[in-house]
Amino acid sequence: MKKEDCIFCKIANGEIPSKTLYEDEDFRVILDLGPATKGHALILPKEHAANIYEITDSQAAKVMVVAKKMAALITEKLQCDGFNLVQNNGETAGQTVNHFHLHLIPRYQNDGQKILWKPGEASQEELEEVKRQITE
Ligand code: 5GP
Ligand code: ZN
Repeated sequence: MKKEDCIFCKIANGEIPSKTLYEDEDFRVILDLGPATKGHALILPKEHAANIYEITDSQAAKVMVVAKKMAALITEKLQCDGFNLVQNNGETAGQTVNHFHLHLIPRYQNDGQKILWKPGEASQEELEEVKRQITE
């Protein structure tokens, strides 16, 4: 299913042109228009799903295989020093386009980007309580 007013549906299905790095039956991988670093790419499923809560098990399984292939290719071709995979869900988490996408972000020494979080602190009791909330 495609969603009528979804820009990533249109890009994924070739209705809007993009800098495509890879395409198969299920996904299109494109360069991000506002790259965090050189080679920043997005994996877009061709079937619309808004986010991680909506993707099918099949999409979820396949997307990591594509990510693995693309990370290896981009690393080889652009000689980056590391790689971040980022996937935002919901406005609070920084999602701006409501069509599932996985960011592939090559990292270079001294690239000036900050993609990691600031570690917090939690006691053993607090961790235990969170574990209980999630698992019980
Ligand atoms: P989000 O913030 O939702 O995780 O990521 C959306 C990403 O899509 C951003 O990095 C943004 O630069 C990129 N983006 C938004 N619109 C377009 C577009 O029309 N074409 C391409 N190639 N990237 C886009
Ligand atoms: Zn869509």
